[in-house]
Amino acid sequence: MKTTCIKNGRVIDPANNRNEILDIFIEDGKIKKIDKNITDKADEVLDATGYIVTPGLIDLQVHFREPGREDRETIETGSKAAIAGGITSVVTMPNTNPVADNQAVINHILKRAKELNLINVFPTGAITVGQKGERIAEMWEMVQCGAVAITEDGFDVQDEGVLLNAMKYAATHDILIMSHCECENLSQHCGMHEGWTSTQMGLAGSPGISEDLAVLKNIYLARESGCRLHLLHNSTQGAVEAIRDAKKRGMKKLTAEVSVQHFALTDEVALGYNTNAKMYPPIRSQKHVDVIIEAIKDDTIDCFTTDHAPHIEPDKICAFEHAAFGSVGVETSFAVANTYLAEAGHIPIEKVISKMTIEPARIIQIDKGTLTVGAEADIAVFDLTKKWTVNAQAGQSKGKNCIFDGYDLVGKAVHTMVKGDLKMKDEQIMV
Ligand SMILES: [Zn+2]
Repeated sequence: MKTTCIKNGRVIDPANNRNEILDIFIEDGKIKKIDKNITDKADEVLDATGYIVTPGLIDLQVHFREPGREDRETIETGSKAAIAGGITSVVTMPNTNPVADNQAVINHILKRAKELNLINVFPTGAITVGQKGERIAEMWEMVQCGAVAITEDGFDVQDEGVLLNAMKYAATHDILIMSHCECENLSQHCGMHEGWTSTQMGLAGSPGISEDLAVLKNIYLARESGCRLHLLHNSTQGAVEAIRDAKKRGMKKLTAEVSVQHFALTDEVALGYNTNAKMYPPIRSQKHVDVIIEAIKDDTIDCFTTDHAPHIEPDKICAFEHAAFGSVGVETSFAVANTYLAEAGHIPIEKVISKMTIEPARIIQIDKGTLTVGAEADIAVFDLTKKWTVNAQAGQSKGKNCIFDGYDLVGKAVHTMVKGDLKMKDEQIMV
């Protein structure tokens, strides 16, 4: 029975309203004791003096590309990248090849994650067969296999009839639907926000209204069906206003996230045709970013994700129009949130941690995201004051397409523990 003691760290556990210097004693993969000056003898003692100790981070939206595009990322490399960022649980999106629209793919992902024994991987299944938006996939069967939600991410189901039927089915079986919101008739699929920056670049942009209308559609259909709905990577003023209104009207089963790049950056980062800034939804203008930050403050936005989207070089070192969508993010998400929200004075660090631990855990209804005695010991230790410069080439992810490459950030994971096993120690991956 292996024992570890993490000593003298500032334990920040929003689920238990805790923020004080404490020791944590871990035995047999679980948190056995949290107290001042624990003297029990442990096999391994980690000195966390000057660091913060938090629940392992939970990221509700990653693309690990396995099966099908293992040249971009695998469950192994994606998991190592997550560990480097202090993330111990991820939710993988279904746009793999083949699409995760059946039990076999869900089983494959779970089996591979179990063999690797790196982090907790929670797969999702597609809403429709092949993500074609037509025939509803075997939602219940996939959930029975271990899918934590059903989502079309990578696409949006355009046919309201299909989406409503899927939501009604989901409501009957208490299945969580996660929606990527985009009206395809309004979106130009160019990865740019429609505005002055896209005009300067001579690119057709995707207007905010494309996301606004799709968010409204999803909210109304979810209300009609009674299903649990989580809205992925919201990025516009209209989207957050619609979510805020719906929550005020008492829509308790509605939750929403923002991907960290959408509160940290504006569309001007794409100037110079920086293809790492090409993403879906696009990075928006300052007006939208300001509104998103307000929505984080008032909890219209429940949690932060990365939308970690690794690509190979030929898909990014090319003309902007031809480049793939997305940026890697699991190695930088905590630092980005700390730098652009806590250090910038918008919200306290406790709230950053809450939106990366207990809040995402509640959304997918997993018993994680806390440092409660008896809980599985998924723990991250961060040096909140460490200043570092992102070097994507040196990252664990196969994808080097990081929008924050070269950025100076504050805060870095030092140790990462999953179920009592140290997966990263002193910033060195242990596996
Ligand atoms: Zn998406």
